[in-house]
Amino acid sequence: MARRGFTTRQVHERAASASPSARATPIYLTAGFEFDEYDDAAAHFGEGRGYAYTRVANPTIDAVEHTLAALEGGSQALLLASGQAATAVVLLALVETGGHIVSSTHVYEGTRGLFRDNLARLGIETTFVDDIDDADAWEAAIRPETRAVFAESISNAANRLIDIGAVAEVAHRHGIPLVIDNTFATPYLVRPLEHGADVVVHSASKFLAGHGSVLGGAIVDNGRFDAERSGALFPHLVAPGRLGEPSIAERVGGDARIAYARESVALRFGTTPSPLNAFLIGQGIETLSLRVARQSANALAVAQWLDDRPEIASVDYVGLPSHPDHALGAALLPDGFGSVFTFTVRGGAEAARRLIESVDVFTHMTHLGDVRSLILHPASTSHVALTGAERRAVGVEPGTIRISVGIEDAPDLIDDLARALAVAAEPVDEVDVAVVA
Ligand SMILES: *Cc1c(COP(=O)(O)O)cnc(C)c1O
Repeated sequence: MARRGFTTRQVHERAASASPSARATPIYLTAGFEFDEYDDAAAHFGEGRGYAYTRVANPTIDAVEHTLAALEGGSQALLLASGQAATAVVLLALVETGGHIVSSTHVYEGTRGLFRDNLARLGIETTFVDDIDDADAWEAAIRPETRAVFAESISNAANRLIDIGAVAEVAHRHGIPLVIDNTFATPYLVRPLEHGADVVVHSASKFLAGHGSVLGGAIVDNGRFDAERSGALFPHLVAPGRLGEPSIAERVGGDARIAYARESVALRFGTTPSPLNAFLIGQGIETLSLRVARQSANALAVAQWLDDRPEIASVDYVGLPSHPDHALGAALLPDGFGSVFTFTVRGGAEAARRLIESVDVFTHMTHLGDVRSLILHPASTSHVALTGAERRAVGVEPGTIRISVGIEDAPDLIDDLARALAVAAEPVDEVDVAVVA
């Protein structure tokens, strides 16, 4: 056979496929997969067998999904390109135009924007519950067209907790699922599905990855969709296909919700993560418990130290006995209280600015769950789109500072804050002198 052209060889010359047993998850950085036989292609499109295209499935992504489902105690997981993608996909899999969502007021600002802007434009309304520790308040917000109840296990900025079991009971009375954003707690600290939640979402960009190198998101479902109880509320899960095929619920039973999220919503909206990012998230997950245990211990030490300082007006950390949800936290979070919280300096925004400009070990950025400690001023950044009254309602004052405590040595973090607080407390003209000197 004549030697093929350079360009042909450039793309076709490669070793025959082999499948050595790599100890680490191989990175299948490929858009798609070859079909072995003619019939394999039809089997893939007909029955979903095998791998074909990375937007549908990829072995590296599958491996991370498997681990996450196991850690959350779920039936299946779906890995996505970001936490925002995870929240959007799970809600689009449950709610349609004319539908309604009940959400805690204490949610990530990106989630609030999704509810208020994007989902509202699709004709999906959200009612926010302020008194999240009052089961009757959740009950009162539910309407006949409610299709999802949403909350965070540990919230920003006030470190509020949700009594997952109590809220799940309210949702289940109406045949609707409770969705919990478990980003701040991670499955190491709490597994919401074990407490009665139906679906968990994550920003994997945060603690799951832990290195701050990639974005990712995840959905984990408990696999307990009950077609008999809830089929009438979710007709897309129980209706036969256009050509008379069995419904999703008939095909996969209790996994109908996550199957629809995977096969319809994520597939068509194209929220697939890169296999390289999936690999890096998988690498991060392997050290999750070690990092989160250390970060929680560090956070408690820092919070206790801050709580004793005269420059500090308040510390909103659920690990402190003074926090309104501390008793619930002791029951729900036996292995640690997490490591993202806020504190408020006396002296308002100006003192907050000087503190942030004076830290050295803490990194000033909008991220959390990193191995490095991070610091941010919510009123001028993450919460800038709220009115002053709205900010106050979620625990953000002009002098409020959010920290995400990393794995560094706790004395170094405390020294850094002590030094920065001293600068922040100085009269302004002395600060100028200090900076010049
Ligand atoms: C960061 C975050 C998100 C969004 O995740 P991305 O990965 O940034 O898209 C959602 N919920 C919470 C609680 C978060 O902290």
